[in-house]
Amino acid sequence: MQDKTPNPKNPKENKPNFFGNNPILFFFIFSLVTILAFKSFVAQDGMELASNQQVKIVKKSVPYSALKELLKTGEIEQVIIGNINIQALSKTRNQQQTAYKARKVADDSTLIPLIEQHNIAYGSVNEENYFEDILFGWVIPMVIIFGIWMFLSNRIQSSMSGGILGMGGSKKMINSEKPNVTFKDMAGNKEAKEEVMEIVDFLKSPERYLKLGAQIPKGVLLVGPPGTGKTLLAKAAAGEASVEFLSVTGSSFIEMFVGVGASRVRDLFEQAKQNAPAIIFIDEIDAIGKSRASGGIGGNDEREQTLNQLLAEMDGFSSDKAPVIVLAATNRPEILDPALLRPGRFDRQVLVDKPDLEGRIEILQVHIKDVKVASDVVLRDIAVMTAGLAGADLANIINEAALLAGRVSKDEVDESDFKEAVERQIAGLEKKSRRISPKERKIVAYHESGHALIAEITKGAKKVNKVSIVPRGLAALGYTLNTPEENKYLIQKHELIAEVDVLLGGRAAEELFIGEISTGAGNDLERATDIIKAMASLYGMSGDDISGLMVLNKQQNQFLGASQTSKDYSDSMAKKLDEHIKQTLKERYKVVIKHLKSHKEAVEQMTKELLDIEVITGLRVQDIIEQNGGVVYREPKDA
Ligand code: ADP
Ligand code: ZN
Repeated sequence: MQDKTPNPKNPKENKPNFFGNNPILFFFIFSLVTILAFKSFVAQDGMELASNQQVKIVKKSVPYSALKELLKTGEIEQVIIGNINIQALSKTRNQQQTAYKARKVADDSTLIPLIEQHNIAYGSVNEENYFEDILFGWVIPMVIIFGIWMFLSNRIQSSMSGGILGMGGSKKMINSEKPNVTFKDMAGNKEAKEEVMEIVDFLKSPERYLKLGAQIPKGVLLVGPPGTGKTLLAKAAAGEASVEFLSVTGSSFIEMFVGVGASRVRDLFEQAKQNAPAIIFIDEIDAIGKSRASGGIGGNDEREQTLNQLLAEMDGFSSDKAPVIVLAATNRPEILDPALLRPGRFDRQVLVDKPDLEGRIEILQVHIKDVKVASDVVLRDIAVMTAGLAGADLANIINEAALLAGRVSKDEVDESDFKEAVERQIAGLEKKSRRISPKERKIVAYHESGHALIAEITKGAKKVNKVSIVPRGLAALGYTLNTPEENKYLIQKHELIAEVDVLLGGRAAEELFIGEISTGAGNDLERATDIIKAMASLYGMSGDDISGLMVLNKQQNQFLGASQTSKDYSDSMAKKLDEHIKQTLKERYKVVIKHLKSHKEAVEQMTKELLDIEVITGLRVQDIIEQNGGVVYREPKDA
């Protein structure tokens, strides 16, 4: 795929922020100036009758007509015409004046002539009602301005981010801290910890590596199901190295407005560089890092821009000036854009998996430290009950148990509290996700043992790294991890057949040891079918009875990564091919069943150990086979 990375040397337009963290102050100044400007434009006066200070003024409201009549009497000395009212002040009598007030009748053209006719002093005024004035002149405008202000500042802020208005913005979404958690707080996951430790070492003493001309990793992808401690691991790395930890969530980059995400990414890296050495942690990176190809029609401009900016930033910074390492977490690495995984970006992947039995015990130990626990509590028992749960679930269980004990005023959290807490947690999870039942666990254990046994005794099969029945998400209940082969360009026919055998081993074991088959082998059978099909249709391995050397499918086969396309062979050939695939699978299955039968004890023991401790290594598998009289196939050293 084309890499659309723009020029990384993007000049940073960092606007000065005069009002810093005090937007309220700025708001008051802003609205004050606005209102004053408005008021000087529409000037107002008070309506005050010019009267003698010593006399008493009696106020009297009268109808307009009565006031007009009064004007004619010669009693009135002064008239003030307001925009709402007219006031007429009588001449002083007995140290007293009367101020008559009437509501003005609009457009009365006879009023002024009448006043003039009687030689009364008059003038006009803009009346001021204090309550109304404050309400209409100050409060309402303030509210309106505040509303507009909030609206604008949200909009402008989210699109400019960290701009002049200083409110909200990306500074808030980026959580910056110096964590005090360390690797001690993270239990289990030894391998993941070891990988991350290297990074810590670099952050602590970069010179040591740079002196040697070493290329420092910039990005590490933490892959694993939710709650397994990815965030914790990243935080602990920062804590161990005592560097700044800047964390954001991938989804928080994506806003309605195009360009916002990109500028937030810019801010994030800017902030990290200023605080270097630092660790940036991007949780749920799949929210931005989704493959651009999978964007659907029209794609998603905003996400693409954000992703491009992230790639540009990662390419742009150099660790020798400012050591910054980006850790990102995802539980769906398969949907990430390949550009993210290129060298110099997230080229390292660390698996942070759900814990096995030992791991769960360790996690429980970490979290139980501050809890008063009764002597009848055996952590191992809790760990056994919680197969398939993640670290976060275990932490929850301990807290829940403590709450349960507290509710009935116990002094210590005892076994029954833990049992109850486990049940609650599992019941809650069963609704949301998958937790396997003891029966399923047994099926999975036999299935995986079947794969592992065939892999270890068959010439040309990939050797087993580890076998696990710890469920990993929805896709796989258990797995047998094969050791990857380095630099292998050619696969021989017997190796392909060995792979088919290993794939069939799972299902065969279910049939043999459980007596019934399950849906668990669906994917295995699909892959086995693909391999045999490819052998016949692409590599001329099916013999002259079928297609001989004739290549049936020009395009790459699914088994090699891409999907099949053209079909340029006859229907009778298709029939022959189908028959061949079916026949070959049947033959291989027979062979596999035979192997499993003759290694019954080994399979039983493997299954028992798997049910016991959930994960066993390839070496242990070999031991078990040999202890039970089987022969492990070992490739000659320099074959
Ligand atoms: P993730 O980021 O993988 O979803 P978190 O790191 O947020 O998981 O884990 C949530 C919480 O679960 C942690 O804060 C911690 O309390 C607990 N936890 C998860 N895994 C572990 C572990 N391996 N050891 C100790 N605690 C863990
Ligand atoms: Zn399988």
